[in-house]
Parts: sequence; structure tokens; C-alpha cells
Amino acid sequence: MTQRFGAFVLSKGEQGQSLAWTEIGEADLMDGDVTVRVSHSTINYKDGLALTGKAPVVRRWPMIPGIDFAGQVTASGHASFKPGDDVILNGWGLGETHLGGYAQVARVKGDWLILKPAAFTPAQAMAIGTAGYTAMLCVVALENNGVTPANGPVLVTGAAGGVGSVAIALLAKLGFEVTASTGRPEEADYLKRLGAREIINRSELDGKPRALGKERFAGVVDCVGSNTLANAISMTRYGGTVAACGLAQGMDLPASVAPFILRGVTLAGIDSVMAPKAKRIEAWDRLARDLDKGLLDAMTVTKPISEAPKIAPEILAGKVRGRVVLEIG
Ligand code: NDP
Repeated sequence: MTQRFGAFVLSKGEQGQSLAWTEIGEADLMDGDVTVRVSHSTINYKDGLALTGKAPVVRRWPMIPGIDFAGQVTASGHASFKPGDDVILNGWGLGETHLGGYAQVARVKGDWLILKPAAFTPAQAMAIGTAGYTAMLCVVALENNGVTPANGPVLVTGAAGGVGSVAIALLAKLGFEVTASTGRPEEADYLKRLGAREIINRSELDGKPRALGKERFAGVVDCVGSNTLANAISMTRYGGTVAACGLAQGMDLPASVAPFILRGVTLAGIDSVMAPKAKRIEAWDRLARDLDKGLLDAMTVTKPISEAPKIAPEILAGKVRGRVVLEIG
């Protein structure tokens, strides 16, 4: 096949890494049994890390970044997919070890793909993106551990970011009283529109953690890690659950065992990248059912793929509100 197409290619040289929109061919793609014409991708926090080189996300050079995409199958040797199928892909090493979504064409393993839920357009699927799908995995983890609206309020940290915004919208729709922790008090109206009942400043949570704090929250969706996660654990009510998915403050966890052994608190780790297919399909089905599309639109901006390098440092600086869809097609 001689088709040429555009892709962002991230290269590493003596001067460090560099990114350029480049014309490549299908022969440049990696092995896979399904070829997809990509229409949309997105910027998640991890994409920001990869594009800026702030953390060693990329483990194969050169790399096409982009940890997720939506598109249409153009060729398939996989029994579950045929040309014309609308598909989405989150994680599985895309943009890390396998050439990613910031390209007009991707070749991937069919086992990594799922059919796009009919409820969403490709653009809406990427408005959700890996951030929104991870928010759903967090909500499912709280539910599976018995956290219900009757148990008390649920805390969402990193509230105005991508995972946080989707988590608030989902939890509020499910009847939870949501407390949103943000470093951007100017986003209080935005967070309330998504469904947050109470807004707290992140400075209440990001200082030196206490072993045990006042029991405030029945559940937590934490996007931030570090002191914030430790404080959130210390404030979790008896029998509550903390879903830990992020590291925006840091990767450390300076916590005490006290909440676990004295209050039976559960720390639920959330990974979206290697999550098995059944869990992904459950999460996307639940998103189709439980995410208000009006709120999804309200938390999303759409940009051309050419703006990805400009947005990358902004998301790491906590300056991006909600979600950013990148148009590629
Ligand atoms: P965003 O940048 O959109 O959101 C992160 C939010 O965290 C910011 O908006 C900000 O919210 C808050 N924040 C930023 N810096 C700090 C800081 N120094 N201290 C405290 N809070 C801070 O990123 P995403 O929503 O895409 O991702 C959120 C986290 O979840 C990231 O760490 C990401 O790596 C992780 N993640 C993990 C996945 C998994 O599979 N486990 C999948 C997807 C994401 P505010 O301004 O409201 O305070």
C-alpha cells in the first residue's frame, strides 16, 4: 500500500526530543491486524508528559504520540472488526510503546479496540477520552466497594481537570453529593454546573498529611496523589473507599496505615491502560448511560491537532479546564 498521510512524529536526538508534523506511509507503521483512519484524539495529562518529555512516557523512538483515538476501520484481519466499523482505543501502550493516535492512520491490534458506543459521535468519544473512561472506572470501583449516595459525600480532587470534571458529572447524576477540590476557585461556577455541591480549595488537602483526620467522605476519586491522596485517605469515613488514579501533585504517598486498620478504608488502584476488555466495555456502556451529554459538551473544547504542542505544557500546569478534543480527520 502506498498511501501517504500526516502524523506528529516525536524524535529523540542529542538536543533532546523534537516534534514535527510529518508525512509518512503505512510501511512506517508498526505491526497490527487492524488499520484505522483516525478522526479524533485528545490531550490527556499523559499526552502532556509525552509531548513535553517531562516524564519518560515514550519508550520507543521515533514515536507518534497520542494515548487514545476514535476512527473508522479501513482494513481488518481481526474477526471482530470489518471496514466501516467505528472504533475507539484507550491505552494498551498507544503513544508509549506503540505508535499512537496523533496520526491520520493507525495500525493496531484488534484486541485493543472496542466498538464506539452508538450513543456517542467520534468527537464525543474523544471528549470523554482516556480521562473520562478512567473517571468511570473510578466510579465503578466506588460502587463495587459499596459506596452509595446514602453513605455520605464523595470527594473529587483535581476537580477542574479532565478526569475530575467527568467524575463530578457522573457522580452527581448518580445521586452523590460531590465535594470538588480545586486550585482554581474561579472555576466554582463551572464545577457547580457539573454537579458539585461543595467546592473546597486544594490547599485544604495538599499540605503535610495527618494520620487520621475528621471522617468526612464516604468515597474519593483522587487525580492528584501525594499529600492530597494521603489527606483524602485520612478523611475517609469508616468503611469508605478511595479510588486512586492520578499523580498531578506527585507520585509519592506519605500516608499512615491508621485509616486502613482503624476505619477499614479501602484504597482502590485504578489503571486504564491495561484494563481488560470486559472492564472497558462495562465502563463505556456506563458512560453511555450515565454521562449527561450536555455537560460533556460544556466541559469540552475542540482544537485542530496542530495545537497539541501548545496545549501540552498547559495541561501539565493545571491550566486546561475539562477536556480537549483534537480534530485529525
Ligand atoms: P488534568 O491536567 O486535566 O487534571 C489534573 C488536575 O489536577 C488539574 O486540572 C488540577 O485541578 C489538579 N492539579 C494539577 N497540578 C496539581 C498540583 N500540583 N497539586 C494539586 N492538584 C493539581 O489531567 P487529567 O484529568 O487528564 O488526569 C488527571 C490525573 O489522572 C493525571 O495525573 C493523570 O496522569 C491521571 N490519569 C491516570 C489514568 C490511569 O489509568 N490511572 C488515566 C488517565 C489519567 P484543579 O485546578 O481543579 O486543582
